Amino acid sequence: MLIGVVTIQGDFAEHLEMLRRLNVQAKGVRLPKDLEGVDGVIIPGGESTTLGIVGNRYGLFDALHEILKEGLPAFGTCAGAIVLAKTILESDQPRIGVIDIVVNRNAYGRQKDSFEADIHVPKLGEVPVRGVFIRAPVIEAVGEGVDVLAEFNDKPVFVQQGNIIATTFHPELTDDVRIHRYFLRLCQS
Ligand code: GLN
Repeated sequence: MLIGVVTIQGDFAEHLEMLRRLNVQAKGVRLPKDLEGVDGVIIPGGESTTLGIVGNRYGLFDALHEILKEGLPAFGTCAGAIVLAKTILESDQPRIGVIDIVVNRNAYGRQKDSFEADIHVPKLGEVPVRGVFIRAPVIEAVGEGVDVLAEFNDKPVFVQQGNIIATTFHPELTDDVRIHRYFLRLCQS
């Protein structure tokens, strides 16, 4: 199995480290041609506007839109979740736009309002995951085809539509590999 990690901007190094710990081969993705041969793609957290400007310039967002529509699995964390969303409130920033969710950027507040919380993910068992929320978006609404895998304060924080998953928090900043492992199972099937 080979996983592509978008290495344009953000905390891609932490995702690469997670994959190394799980003994999975990974490669950096910046250009459309880098997508050749990958079984899934991770889009890291960071700054979604920067990711969008550069991703558009490289033609990567259009290429990802096409390949994800065809069913290639993807996993976006925070800014990665934002660019996967179809609707970004009050923003016309570039996006890949393949998950039917409405996101509101920075809706928990500014950098100093970043926080951690235990998140119960029924699919992953009894032990909660530690959610690290850094200037995270709030998912305000989800479409019909979207499964909500976890909530915090009555808002979805982990969603899935087909082979695409997104978290508004950062599992890659913890030692807990369960969400990455869940994603790898999608990439295997
Ligand atoms: N606030 C950032 C954005 O809107 C996301 C922050 C993050 O990825 N931790 O793009």
